[in-house]
Amino acid sequence: MSWYDNNKRNLPWRVSKNSPKKLYYRLLSEFMLQQTQVKTVLPFFKKFTEKYKSLKSLSTSNEKDVLKLWEGLGYYRRARNLLTTSKILVNKFNSRLPESRDEIKKLPGIGDYTASALLALVHDRPAIAVDGNVKRVFSRILNKEIDRINFEKVIKDNSKKLFYLKRNSDLVEALMEFGALICKPKDPNCNDCCLKRNCKYLKSNSKINFSRKKIIKNKNYDIFCYINKDRKIALTQKNQISFLKNFNLPKVKESRSFKNNKDWKFLKNYKNSISNLKLNINLYYKFSDKIPPSYNWYSLKKNKEFIPSFTKNILRQVSTLF
Ligand code: SF4
Repeated sequence: MSWYDNNKRNLPWRVSKNSPKKLYYRLLSEFMLQQTQVKTVLPFFKKFTEKYKSLKSLSTSNEKDVLKLWEGLGYYRRARNLLTTSKILVNKFNSRLPESRDEIKKLPGIGDYTASALLALVHDRPAIAVDGNVKRVFSRILNKEIDRINFEKVIKDNSKKLFYLKRNSDLVEALMEFGALICKPKDPNCNDCCLKRNCKYLKSNSKINFSRKKIIKNKNYDIFCYINKDRKIALTQKNQISFLKNFNLPKVKESRSFKNNKDWKFLKNYKNSISNLKLNINLYYKFSDKIPPSYNWYSLKKNKEFIPSFTKNILRQVSTLF
C-alpha cells in the first residue's frame, strides 16, 4: 500500500471517497477498461465526462449518441450495457450502487469481476477484483501457474492480512497498479519490487512460464453489398455475426467459395483483424435500388449515425468502385 501511495498514476477516475462523481466515474471507467488499456481509455473517458457530467445526464441520453461517442473504443456492447445500467441505477436505485453483490450482478454488463471492483471502489468493501494483472502478481509471488490457483480461496485464506488496513478501495487499485507498472507481463521490474523478499518466482530455479500465446481464430466471411445509383450502400442490423450482433452491416455470411455467383460481382479479398479474430473477407456487390425490408440506405461518404469500424472498412473498399 505504501508503494501505491508513492507511485500511483494520476488517473481521472480516481476521485476522492466523498466525491459525488465517484459512482459515475468508477462505473464508466470499469466499463471502458474491460479488454482495453488505460492509455486508450483516457481520451474516451474525457470525452464522455465532458458531454455527460453525471450519471443522471448519461442516463437521459440515447443509444445513438452514446454509440457515436464510443466510436473507436470497440466492443460496443459495453456502451449499450453502460447506458442501460445508468438508467436502472438512476431510476430504480436513486443514483446509488446497490449494496448486495447479487443485486449489482443483475445490472447489464456486470459480471463477477466488475461487481467485485465496484463493491470495493464504490462501497470500500473487502473485495478484490481479480483481473489479469492481479492474477499475474499472485501467480508470480506463489510461483504457481494461474490455472492452478484458486483465487477465491487465496483471498479468503488471507483476508485478515489483505483487508486489515480497511483501505479496500485503494487495495484493489494498488494490486492492479502493481501488476501494470512493476510485476509486468514481460520483464517484471524485480529490482525495484517491494515484494521481492517474499517472491517465490524471483527465488525459484524453475520459474513458471508466462509466455501464453493469444489464441487466434481464423474466420472467412462473404460480404454482399447492395449499392444504389446515389452511391449509397444498404446496411441492416439483422445480422448474426456474434461480435457485431445488432449493428449496421451489409449482408454477411460465413464463406463458402461463392466467387462465381451470377447475381453478385466479386470486388476484392482483404484481411481484417478484430481482437483475437483474423478475418478473411470476400467482398461482393450489386447495383440495385431494391433492398430487403430490414435494410436502410447509408451514404458511402459521411454518416452522422454510429457505424462500427468493421463496416466503415467495407464502405471504404466499396467506395473504390466510383
Ligand atoms: S519480485 Fe519480480 S516477479 Fe516477484 S512480485 Fe516483484 S516484480 Fe513480480
